[in-house]
Amino acid sequence: MNFSDLGLSSEVLDAVKDAGYTEPTPIQQQAIPVVLTGRDVLGMAQTGTGKTAGFTLPMIDILAEGRAKARMPRSLILEPTRELAAQVAENFETYGKNHKLSMALLIGGVSFDEQFKKLDRGVDVLIATPGRLIDHFERGRVMLGGVKILVVDEADRMMDMGFMPDVEKIVNMVAPIRQTLFFSATMPPEIRRLADTFLSNPKEISVAPPASPAATVAQGLASVSHVPKEKRAALRALIRSEEVGNALVFCNRKRDVNTLYRSLAKHGFDAAALHGDMDQSQRMEALQNFKDGKISIMVCSDVAARGIDIQGLSHVFNFDVPTHAEDYVHRIGRTGRAGQKGRAFTLASSGDEKYVQSIQRLIGKEIPRVDIDGVDAAAIGEARDKPRRRKKPASDKAAVTADSEKPASGRRKKRDRKERDKTANDNEPVVGWGNHMPAFFSIELPIEGK
Ligand code: AMP
Repeated sequence: MNFSDLGLSSEVLDAVKDAGYTEPTPIQQQAIPVVLTGRDVLGMAQTGTGKTAGFTLPMIDILAEGRAKARMPRSLILEPTRELAAQVAENFETYGKNHKLSMALLIGGVSFDEQFKKLDRGVDVLIATPGRLIDHFERGRVMLGGVKILVVDEADRMMDMGFMPDVEKIVNMVAPIRQTLFFSATMPPEIRRLADTFLSNPKEISVAPPASPAATVAQGLASVSHVPKEKRAALRALIRSEEVGNALVFCNRKRDVNTLYRSLAKHGFDAAALHGDMDQSQRMEALQNFKDGKISIMVCSDVAARGIDIQGLSHVFNFDVPTHAEDYVHRIGRTGRAGQKGRAFTLASSGDEKYVQSIQRLIGKEIPRVDIDGVDAAAIGEARDKPRRRKKPASDKAAVTADSEKPASGRRKKRDRKERDKTANDNEPVVGWGNHMPAFFSIELPIEGK
């Protein structure tokens, strides 16, 4: 299917073409024609599926007709976080470049004077986080009676973050005759109940997260001990063996995010944490530092990382095997984007067999096994070679050790030195690769002594 089959205007199609998209994603194929007819939509889709363009593209065409009145936005998009709101605003700018739509953002960290000037002149699109919007509504700076299209995005995340009472309040302030688009990655009963009250005869659209990871992501699965201290040591060895530019490290539980982050920082890594218990400003700061390259490793939970679009991520490490197979695809899909190469490693210990199997069923292939030498781990799920404790072979591309002289930046060398000093007596494991390693793994590994 082509974008031109969806009923969008030629101006929007030109903007889409300039963005380099050749084919609409499944959520776009389903949502765009329905939104254009004015019908409500209940969309079950995660970020990464192209959901944002799924609602912004048709909104641009709908809003092309008509004029905005002072302080009365014609459409309202609610986002759980400032960074997601900013991403949606960028989408409107990209796809709306051939239209004259005005837009304002009511989120933390944006100069309000300027946004109020815009609101006073009248905006077609208002993008806001719920708390900020209520605050300004109560001060009489914005009126919601003119909203004709309401988007509630990432509803489950809003609920996780405790925003639902605010969202309900806002929905009650918006004119009842409107089009409502409601998106959530998951649809637990509480979200379904809200959707029923917010929406009128919605078209339900559901897209599964992509079941096959990008071919540009090299994957590896390492067997490690389930003892937390040993597991953390294995992760450190693995990270050191790789040329990590920037990496996301996923944990299944929030409390483990903190523990792992502290441990990595203690061992000299430039790390930060991102989880749902942090307040918005802490999260923004951590994320900005990561985006600016001030820190290279972000330890995070699935919920906190959802919707975060980081360009050029070199690695993903699953400190825990995700218990939902779809999360595996979603996590490792953070790297290898836009045709770039990425590497994704998963640490598995005894008890993880069933999760590994369900991931492999979903992706339709076995994740190549890699060994971390010196890490004494139970084989998971199947008979396999014992991890080899390798001495330094003279010309073995596949051998990587924590002490290998890799090409490194000054900062990296300094960090490595600091790291070695700290762990000199720590019996640090040394990473190597097992016999299972397929050809594509050995190609990219750093050559020892280079
Ligand atoms: P989203 O799920 O809206 O966060 O979008 C995820 C990423 O996919 C963003 O970086 C978009 O720029 C990109 N994207 C959206 N639609 C398409 C498309 N039809 N083709 C290729 N990339 C797209």
